[in-house]
Amino acid sequence: MSLLVVGSVAFDGIETPFGKVEKTLGGAASYFALAASHFTPVRVVGIVGDDFTAREKAILGGRNGRIDLEGLEHAPGKSFFWAGRYNQNMNERTTLTTELNVFADFQPKLPKSYLDTSFIFLGNIQPTLQLSVLKQVKRKPVLVGLDSMNYWIERTGSELRETLRHIQVLVINDDETRQLTGEHNLTRAAKDIFKMGPKILVIKRGEHGALLVHRDFLFAVPAFPLEEVHDPTGAGDSFAGGFMGSLARDGRVNEKSLRRAMVYGSVMGSFTCERFGVERLTTLKLSEIKARARHFSKLTSFTL
Ligand code: AMP
Repeated sequence: MSLLVVGSVAFDGIETPFGKVEKTLGGAASYFALAASHFTPVRVVGIVGDDFTAREKAILGGRNGRIDLEGLEHAPGKSFFWAGRYNQNMNERTTLTTELNVFADFQPKLPKSYLDTSFIFLGNIQPTLQLSVLKQVKRKPVLVGLDSMNYWIERTGSELRETLRHIQVLVINDDETRQLTGEHNLTRAAKDIFKMGPKILVIKRGEHGALLVHRDFLFAVPAFPLEEVHDPTGAGDSFAGGFMGSLARDGRVNEKSLRRAMVYGSVMGSFTCERFGVERLTTLKLSEIKARARHFSKLTSFTL
């Protein structure tokens, strides 16, 4: 089934103990789309500037046309630019620069061909803009997922709460979950989030994996134990891409498909960490994804 993502398509500057890149294709929607495209075709809604050239277009378009860029608006000026530096153990990241550029005046517009999308992911942007995407679709989607961050929770809390009333899956990290609810215990925080609208909460916990909380069941997936993490940038967005991509491919949302989606989310997040930027997502083969998913099955299987 069709899958749409709205979010940042950007250039990133990244510094980790393994190296440094000045300017490489990034942005939450880029990671999401590249990860999800291994499962299902993806439609992208975003905005880029004059510096987004045929080279970047070829990276996103290089997945055999599985990433539809009709909804990627080109505007005069520079693309969104973000730079970050990781500490020695990769657990902490300092944001060095955030330049909104053309992103500052972004008003998401869905092309006609996107209006019937069944699975929608509202990437981390201003909550009112996230809601404006939902208002444009013509048919009720099967599932709407949403990501947000401390920046929006602090500055646009009431707008975010309004948008949350219209979505089913909230995909955020543990700090954001605590910040949004004011509750430290994550299972109790999930109950507060259910009162805000979502029926499913997916908590991304970095190297500790991810937890799915549904009214009827809980599911935890570890992070894949990698020997070398080169660059964790975009791991969360790649997780969301694998998660939503798997669900859209299954075409239905039930306990079985949600458990499988969690594993594919973790699989895609782990691949992203192996190389700088989006590189690993562009070279990845389906056979490698399947092999790592099997590895997860072994990693977590036990008998009582
Ligand atoms: P993650 O590592 O999952 O937090 O995602 C990092 C990606 O998010 C980078 O590629 C950035 O370009 C993008 N990003 C960083 N800050 C923002 C922001 N305020 N709004 C939208 N995208 C952002």
